[in-house]
Amino acid sequence: MPAKIISGIETAKAIREEIAAEVVSLKQLHGLNPGLVTILVGQDPASESYVAAKNKTAHALGIHSEQVTLPSETSEAELLQIVSEYNSNPAIHGILVQLPLPRHINEANVLFAIDPAKDVDGFHPVNVGKMMLGEQCFLPCTPNGILELLQRSGIETAGAEVVVVGRSNIVGKPIANLMLQKRPGGNATVTVCHTRTKDVDYHTRRADILIVAAGVAKMIKADQIKEGAVIIDVGVNRIGQAASGKAILAGDVDFADVVTKASAITPVPGGVGPMTITMLMKNTLQAAKQAAGIG
Ligand code: NAP
Repeated sequence: MPAKIISGIETAKAIREEIAAEVVSLKQLHGLNPGLVTILVGQDPASESYVAAKNKTAHALGIHSEQVTLPSETSEAELLQIVSEYNSNPAIHGILVQLPLPRHINEANVLFAIDPAKDVDGFHPVNVGKMMLGEQCFLPCTPNGILELLQRSGIETAGAEVVVVGRSNIVGKPIANLMLQKRPGGNATVTVCHTRTKDVDYHTRRADILIVAAGVAKMIKADQIKEGAVIIDVGVNRIGQAASGKAILAGDVDFADVVTKASAITPVPGGVGPMTITMLMKNTLQAAKQAAGIG
């Protein structure tokens, strides 16, 4: 039987409706208007489209959003000055600096300069440290979106063998950590694979839940998964062009190959992707409430 499709579009829609309703009540009851700024340096087309999508979603949910677009030759000092101004701007509750930054700017210096209370991407070491400790904090958006997808799809994680392929700071490491936490949605036994793992297939074949964030198109085939596994495909790879002239998106999992062997799978597009922006909005809402001492 083909796998159940875990739709990020539908799950994101449900969460966005919850956020929009809360934004309305925050405005009505508290006069509070959640605000997000996105800061883009340079003209990377993918980054431009990500930032545009974030602002469009914020707008659709009633969240105030501002976009700062800077030339690629912007200096680190100039960028730090802008971050500092938004840190003290009371109308802005969330600051997102779109990555990657041009090479002459040290990403860590910029991310660490964001007020942790406005770090809606969850990349500041204060938030990363709190996440490790299982404390309340801003969780990074893609891993948090994966947690929501699993929970809202009724997939049990307690005691599950979870294998994560990829160890990046934005996906692999945080999702591994979150699945390990001693709380609902966690309690899994987690293995993390990377390019130095001796036998990736050995691990992927034992996974009850396989999370792939490697950035290698269609690398996971049916013979690398267990019958009935849940597959979370984080990868977004542009491969060739459709007749329309647009790039075709493919995940890190060969969907057509594994769909009859897995029990549930996220498609690409329409799986993890829509969840990432949604969790950014949720973090912005949370940041606004915390700033106002609500909830
Ligand atoms: P990344 O920083 O490039 O990290 C990739 C990780 O995968 C690295 O840890 C690398 O190992 C590992 N890896 C690569 N090839 C491998 C292989 N053949 N076998 C085992 N491990 C392998 O990527 P990322 O930022 O985590 O993103 C991963 C993918 O997710 C990309 O396609 C990206 O576009 C996508 N993504 C999607 C969303 C979304 O919202 N849908 C968000 C973020 C990222 P080493 O550490 O040893 O190099």
